[in-house]
Amino acid sequence: MPIRCEIVSQDRMVWEGDADIVVIPGTAGEMGILPNHAPLLSTLKFGILKVRQKGEEEVFTVAGGVVEVQPDLITVLADSAENVVEIDVARAEAARKRAEDLLKEGIPADTDSFLKLEAALRRSNLRLEAVRRYRSGKRSQMPSMRDTDTE
Ligand code: ATP
Repeated sequence: MPIRCEIVSQDRMVWEGDADIVVIPGTAGEMGILPNHAPLLSTLKFGILKVRQKGEEEVFTVAGGVVEVQPDLITVLADSAENVVEIDVARAEAARKRAEDLLKEGIPADTDSFLKLEAALRRSNLRLEAVRRYRSGKRSQMPSMRDTDTE
């Protein structure tokens, strides 16, 4: 009996379906969630989330958020998330360059602007690293399910 998994970001439903195991980048460490897992609530770090069912694997980037686990349902509420196959590389490169250029101009005077720029840089780096590691023919020889930490 699989576990239902729903991945929602601030602006859309990213993915929903059944899973045999979901590997989640929790802030306290990576969690492999199987069906009938005990209920839990955790915050998410920037990292890779993997859904595996019947030998197939979907890989997602997740840039923070929370996850709620119930025995039959995993609900991921991500600040931002996308399937690795849908990442637009040119867009991520442009976002990285924009953030790098602004940071090079000097540290913004207010902390809020600095943190926003730093987060934008981390999101774009995460997306580009995920594409490098998990796209283009690598799906048949995926790294281990544990090899998911991009920080
Ligand atoms: P950008 O500056 O390019 O908008 P961002 O990091 O500010 O990047 P977010 O606010 O995290 O973007 O995301 C807004 C929406 O765009 C989300 O739905 C996210 O999944 C999507 N998104 C962001 N960057 C990419 C990308 N490179 N490829 C595909 N979808 C993306």
